[in-house]
Amino acid sequence: AKQRFSVVTLFPEMFERFITQGVIGRAVKKGLIEVALYNPRDYTHDKHRTVDDRPYGGGPGMLMMIQPLADAIADAKKASAKNVQVVYLTPQGRKLDFEGVQNLSQFTDLVLIAGRYEGIDERLIESLVDQEWSIGDYVLSGGELPAMVLMDAVSRLIPEVLGHNQSAVDDSFTNGLLECPHYTRPENYLGKRVPAVLLSGDHEKIRQWRQIESVKRTQRKRPDLLKKLALTEEQQAILAD
Ligand code: SAM
Repeated sequence: AKQRFSVVTLFPEMFERFITQGVIGRAVKKGLIEVALYNPRDYTHDKHRTVDDRPYGGGPGMLMMIQPLADAIADAKKASAKNVQVVYLTPQGRKLDFEGVQNLSQFTDLVLIAGRYEGIDERLIESLVDQEWSIGDYVLSGGELPAMVLMDAVSRLIPEVLGHNQSAVDDSFTNGLLECPHYTRPENYLGKRVPAVLLSGDHEKIRQWRQIESVKRTQRKRPDLLKKLALTEEQQAILAD
């Protein structure tokens, strides 16, 4: 099924390169994903096309003005399937990880709200937003990059997006592990040689080596991932080694 993203953003131009280049650009061209952009500025009614407003209680910073934002979200929802989820990208949301990306990919229609200024009115979150997601514990100046991060990660889970040759099955996190190391030409780079097994042509040996490296480096770099995993006997043997 086609994955649809509707992004509500004051800076739609930020998405233009993203949706025309590389893996994502190809997926859009092939019709595997569809991206619609909704700019609250197009929903303003005053001469200055105002999109920000002052916060009650004072203090520095502005908020996104309610009416243009709410109207843009409503339009995005109207053009979506019934089971659409409205997602607000916010540093206060649940931290995005592989499992979160998998859950989000269950919905063929996602409306992504990219905030600006100090964010959006709390009542909009309560009444219009289904899910809040963060891309990490730091604050960015807008939700556009987080929206692109989410779109990119969700799109990679659609099998046809990566295609057979580049499938995501070996990628880090897909099976709960980090991926094994990779090497390309030359065989000898600054005195460092490519592991001999990779030159052997023995596919079973190469598979085993990759499995071992994958498990070992996960233990070294991300032991937290291993704790969550039900390891196969082969993997347990590697760790016991
Ligand atoms: N005042 C807000 C707070 O402290 O929670 C931060 C507002 S931030 C300057 C502006 C917008 O950037 C937010 O509305 C949100 O859409 C986006 N944003 C910033 N950091 C983010 C993060 N870590 N994850 C997702 N979105 C983020």
